[in-house]
Amino acid sequence: MSNAILAQSISRQTVGQALRLMRQACRYEPSEMNALNRAALNLEACTWQYDGEALVIESATTQFQRYHVAYNGCDCKAGSTGRPCWHLAAFRLIQRAAELALTPARPRMTDAAYARAVAACDDLF
Ligand SMILES: [Zn+2]
Repeated sequence: MSNAILAQSISRQTVGQALRLMRQACRYEPSEMNALNRAALNLEACTWQYDGEALVIESATTQFQRYHVAYNGCDCKAGSTGRPCWHLAAFRLIQRAAELALTPARPRMTDAAYARAVAACDDLF
């Protein structure tokens, strides 16, 4: 699957699912939780673009400033010195959302249980 398709598969719903999962994962790490929450808020408030490999996102505080985030980090002031920033948290959140969008829904029952349920419905009509 191309990165463009991967990027297009991201939706508000998959970002929300990713946010819920990532909040659970970092619930005991306040700095990560803060970065994640800022990322979630600023993904709604700031313009951004994700191509499947890199995220370009505007600054939440400085007009016309954009930051570039990829696997190797972020070019903001904090990120360029190796400190965590919300831009990197946003990148991870978007990546997780893309993964979730590509993950097929798990069946809620086994094939045999599904066949029994279909047969029971057929008996009704
Ligand atoms: Zn940054």
